[in-house]
Amino acid sequence: EKIQEIFRVVRANNSNVIPEVFSKQIFEYAGVNIPKQEISSTEDEAVYLAKKIGFPVVLKIHSFQIVHKSDAKGVLVGLKSSDEVREGFREIIQNAAIYNKTSDKFQVTVQEMAEPATEIIIGMKRDEIFGPVILFGLGGVWVEVLKDVSLRVLPLTERDVELMFTEIKGTSLLEKFRGNEARDLASLKNLIFQLQNLVLEFPEINEIDLNPVFLYEKGHGNIVVDARIVLN
Ligand code: ADP
Ligand code: MG
Repeated sequence: EKIQEIFRVVRANNSNVIPEVFSKQIFEYAGVNIPKQEISSTEDEAVYLAKKIGFPVVLKIHSFQIVHKSDAKGVLVGLKSSDEVREGFREIIQNAAIYNKTSDKFQVTVQEMAEPATEIIIGMKRDEIFGPVILFGLGGVWVEVLKDVSLRVLPLTERDVELMFTEIKGTSLLEKFRGNEARDLASLKNLIFQLQNLVLEFPEINEIDLNPVFLYEKGHGNIVVDARIVLN
């Protein structure tokens, strides 16, 4: 089917790391909400796609050679006009050429810009002993500095997922407190089960990194803004 076809394309490029757009496409096939996204090869094409998607847009480097796009100065958010897109396209291609001298031809993805929200990360790795293990945490300093994450071995029950939400130190950011509205934990639970189904269905998926997922107020869902799937 469509997901297997993406695996074939990635392998045909002698890679096991599925680039962001294709990784998110796989999640979309699994029923997950993602921003509109298209691949452009020229400035003109990027402008055309930005107009089609609607401003503001996000531009990101698209290449089998570049995994951490920000490290390559390959992410620009909040571009509001055709001129900004034209200039942004050029800048990203230039930065990529400096960062990675081996690749000949880079492309740029044009994406819908998601409204800011609580940033969540969800990861999966296959452990030799435990099998697939899932990681859940709040994005930014919560994970990078405080290492505030929750880990569980798959498969998860609803109860397991609820416990993951409450056992991180930053859990109150997900709940209603003072001016803060509760986050849409039902949609987040659903996303975790969608990820789990992918992992159980496709043994060739070795690793998943959703970083970040934007999580909105109760009733407003979530959107996966960056994804990476690694095949074995
Ligand atoms: P990296 O490969 O460096 O992790 P990301 O795709 O995560 O690149 O982009 C870097 C940051 O830009 C994200 O953490 C997020 O805050 C922001 N961002 C990325 N894509 C979008 C989007 N479609 N809408 C809004 N913000 C985005
Ligand atoms: Mg990211």
